[in-house]
Amino acid sequence: MSNNNIVTSEELNEAIDSLSKNLYLESPDLWIDFSDKMGDNNFDEMVLFFAIKYNYPAIVKHAIESHLIKLDSPSRNKTFKSIKDHLLSVADQYKNVQIHNILTGKKEELQKEESSNSTHDLISNGDNSYIPKFICPHCNSNIFKSGYIVSEEVTYKYSKDNNKTIPISSKTLDNVTCDNCKNTLKEINNDFLQKLSSVQNCISCGLDLTSTGIVDKIKMIYDKDLSKFLPNKTSYHCSNCDQEINDYQKEHFNL
Ligand SMILES: [Zn+2]
Ligand SMILES: [Zn+2]
Repeated sequence: MSNNNIVTSEELNEAIDSLSKNLYLESPDLWIDFSDKMGDNNFDEMVLFFAIKYNYPAIVKHAIESHLIKLDSPSRNKTFKSIKDHLLSVADQYKNVQIHNILTGKKEELQKEESSNSTHDLISNGDNSYIPKFICPHCNSNIFKSGYIVSEEVTYKYSKDNNKTIPISSKTLDNVTCDNCKNTLKEINNDFLQKLSSVQNCISCGLDLTSTGIVDKIKMIYDKDLSKFLPNKTSYHCSNCDQEINDYQKEHFNL
């Protein structure tokens, strides 16, 4: 999906085409039903359900922005109060953060800004423990939460003793793929993610703070009455890249 907020007709048609193929594989009856609905420009709860299941945010976005569906209407699925509740639950079930945000109307710009600043800081997951954060630039999900894929390359050789091929070596490949959107994350590798996930490493450059060292900075505020600068707040920074270390790390290092 493009970075702007409007779904172009090419994007939409491409998404509908591709979803249509998925539905045909799932069930030809479903596909006929879906094709009829698309012919009538009918984006109902069922269409959006499958758009979410097969991850087509453009379709969901188009339906909502063009007011083709009333999210507050009662859901056909009686377990849910409204269509919105139902679709949110589907988005969460398929761990689709982007569609979740589209449904809740959460501004994408906010997240874009966040990800373009390459924020990999630690975030709270609610129970006072922390998980590292790397936001996928394609689908805006935190890959430490939604998962990422790393492949292994195994070399096989034929063994006369065993009368079969056996693995003789394996190595973990560096490429990282986002598990949520299946896009390759070119800007990072597995090694970097391993480093990020350790509390004693810098959350930006990934270097071990216990080797690179940290720098403390005291912010001084000018006091007009006393006509001098007074210390206001101390912060600690990675001495390699100057990234400020976060509260969790401060706690870890007893600062
Ligand atoms: Zn992704
Ligand atoms: Zn650093």
